[in-house]
Amino acid sequence: MGYWESESPDATNFWISPELAAFYEFETADGFISIAKVRESYLPESREILAAHYAACWASGQSYAVQTKLRRSDGSLLDCMVHGEPEFDAHGEVRRVSGMVRDVTEETSALRRLAESEQRLADFVSTASDWCWESDASHRLLPYPRLLTGNDALQTVAAGGRTRWELAYAPEDEEAMARHRADMEAHRPFRDFAYTLIGQDGSRISIRTNGKPIFADDGTFLGYRGTSNDITELKAAEAKLDERTRALREAHRLGKIGTWSYRLDTGRSVWEPELFHLLGLDPETFEPSHENTKSYFMGDDAERFLELQKRVLRTCGTEAIDLRILHPDGTVHDLAITCKADIAHGKVIGIFGTVQDVTERKEAERKLELLAYSDPLTGLANRALFKRQLGDMIENCAMEGRSGALLLIDLDRFKEVNDSLGHAAGDELLIRVAATLRLELGPQAFIARLGGDEFAVLADGCGTSDAALTEFADRIIAKLSGPVDLTEGEAFIGATIGIACLPEHGLAAETAMRNADLALYMAKEAGRGRAQLFEPIYAQAVQQKLDLGRHLRHAVEAGTLQAHYQPQVDLRAGCVTGFEALLRWSHPERGPISPAEFIPIAESSGLIVDLGLWVLREACRQGRAWLDAGLPRRSVSVNVSPAQIWSTNFETAVSTVLAETGFPADLLCLELTESLFVDHTEQRTSHTLMALSALGVRLALDDFGSGYSSLGYLTRLPFDRLKVDRAFVDGISSAPAKRKLLGGIIALSRGLGMTVVAEGAELSAEVDVLRELDCDLVQGFVFSQPVAADKAPLVAARIEREVRPIQLIRRQVI
Ligand code: C2E
Ligand code: MG
Ligand code: MG
Repeated sequence: MGYWESESPDATNFWISPELAAFYEFETADGFISIAKVRESYLPESREILAAHYAACWASGQSYAVQTKLRRSDGSLLDCMVHGEPEFDAHGEVRRVSGMVRDVTEETSALRRLAESEQRLADFVSTASDWCWESDASHRLLPYPRLLTGNDALQTVAAGGRTRWELAYAPEDEEAMARHRADMEAHRPFRDFAYTLIGQDGSRISIRTNGKPIFADDGTFLGYRGTSNDITELKAAEAKLDERTRALREAHRLGKIGTWSYRLDTGRSVWEPELFHLLGLDPETFEPSHENTKSYFMGDDAERFLELQKRVLRTCGTEAIDLRILHPDGTVHDLAITCKADIAHGKVIGIFGTVQDVTERKEAERKLELLAYSDPLTGLANRALFKRQLGDMIENCAMEGRSGALLLIDLDRFKEVNDSLGHAAGDELLIRVAATLRLELGPQAFIARLGGDEFAVLADGCGTSDAALTEFADRIIAKLSGPVDLTEGEAFIGATIGIACLPEHGLAAETAMRNADLALYMAKEAGRGRAQLFEPIYAQAVQQKLDLGRHLRHAVEAGTLQAHYQPQVDLRAGCVTGFEALLRWSHPERGPISPAEFIPIAESSGLIVDLGLWVLREACRQGRAWLDAGLPRRSVSVNVSPAQIWSTNFETAVSTVLAETGFPADLLCLELTESLFVDHTEQRTSHTLMALSALGVRLALDDFGSGYSSLGYLTRLPFDRLKVDRAFVDGISSAPAKRKLLGGIIALSRGLGMTVVAEGAELSAEVDVLRELDCDLVQGFVFSQPVAADKAPLVAARIEREVRPIQLIRRQVI
């Protein structure tokens, strides 16, 4: 700073202080210097200004202060403030002008910087989406210099004059706003206070604001300063996200879906809350990891799940698996899990997955399966389930090198119970059998009812030796055999079992079934009530029999069977009194086959009922034809199998055939064997026999002496004839004991009012003995083989011609 003065307007005596001289870089001895020289230091425009003000000051006494620019000898520019002040004499005339020169370079540049910085701030603020705000000591917002555009709610903020809590804000902000007000009234700074303004048109605009209190140096509170920004869009996005998240959570909760993720880098699993909830675990205390969850899985599910995850990581794929866990509440839950590789920038970084609780669905499936796979009557597995289980068992046995067995159980005499005691009794019996099997074999055994009276058992670990298996089967037979008390009465049943060893007797369920069936067939053939292990050598024979059965059925359907007739000769009268109809069948490949071979097959396949009816009808038709041809009244005997008698309404079938053919009932003789009484109760059989007898039909007990030979039946049942088996007749001429026995039988039968027929007489010597014993009728090759229908009358005529002379001779001898 320096001082100057001048005593004349033309500055002839212009004086500067030594400081000023130093400032101007002049050398003066006394301080006087030419003003023009001084002015030269200034930049041209400053020079003019200085000159003009100096002149004006002299002329009108005006003081001045002007800012000027000055260049120093080193070239630097300085800002100077030059003052001029007039001094007046007594007349008010300017006498002298003096002043000061001040270097304001520093000051000016500071001000410039300030202006620049203000501009910069203004630029930032004007380009940022945030805006600044201020409020006074009573929290009234001050008008904002830059008008906020767009929305009337924002205009309100910009206009100022109100406190924030006097603005029209959304009702849900009430509480938060009250807290905010308390903050401001306590002059506390605040951050990120968000609220929503409601415009006059109802539009909403969300604002986030920060603020800090401003105090004067003496601590007086002046107001607040802060920034705000419009977060309407952010809020909307947040709300949408929230809503989506909530909806997803809700969907997860409803669908019982939990999600989880696993990161390879951290080795940590993260579970969503719903997953904890699903598994009944506490998110606070349970740390999700393979180790910690392992014990909750059932069976080897933990390992299966781990394997799956490894596979997903390896293949970068997506996989699903069904698992079972033990819930902490003790119940078992079914889970459906899906895993997907988490891939970022082409690299696997982990796995994420979903877990769904599908217990209810699985339960329903299991129930449905149970319904689809169980026998409604006994509650045992049905055939479908049995087949599946059998397949599994064979597979397991083959894989693990174990052996098992398939037992097919067929009830003996079940049909009789059904027929004699009714279906309800049959059902009751089946239920009882199922219960017995369950009790005997335990809950672990797989037992099925395949249909009708057929049951099956899959035996696992009951011993592998044949002996152990048969012993096991015999135990079952023993348990099932014997009288059973039913509501309707007592039933006496038995069981026959066929066994196939697994896996050697069938690598497929079908084969195993067929072989067990063959074994069962063999057991039945061998006389029922026993167990038979499948043996491959028999398989062929049995298979042949089954094939034969098929062919036989074709023959029945195609009507290619024939009946042959064997005469029955009355020794006393010397005439043929009747014929026995005997079936003849010629197999397409094997030629003629004996009824002794094919009748049992027809019986075991059930074909016998149709077959028997065919013979019956054919024989009656033939008998009628002979009568119509004017031949003598001769009886026709027809063999009837037990199954026919047991089949429903046999008597009706007989009377229908008689009516249809017009054959007299008293000429029809039905031949029955004792096997009729072996398998069934007498009650039902006798009912049918009585009914047949009432039709006028004759009944003969065939093959007497070959089986049980119980005379008891003869006394109780309406038999007209006794056919003595060939075994009694054979060799009668040479064996006196046999002769005596036969004599006794004949006498006895006669006493019961029955006709005795001797079967299978082959020698005339035998005929002689029979005549001596006074046997009524004789049938045998000695007279004739069974012959075709057209030959029978001729054969009868020949026999009568031959027998009479013999008789006459005998009479003459006597
Ligand atoms: P069956 O009812 O006892 O018939 C008598 C069998 O003895 C017949 O055998 C007959 O040919 C045979 N035979 C007759 N006289 C003699 C003889 O002097 N010596 C010998 N060795 N045999 C003699 P076939 O025709 O082979 O019939 C065998 C069995 O097949 C019959 O025994 C009968 O039980 C059954 N059968 C035949 N046809 C039928 C039928 O239509 N229905 C039923 N259910 N069974 C039938
Ligand atoms: Mg017979
Ligand atoms: Mg016989």
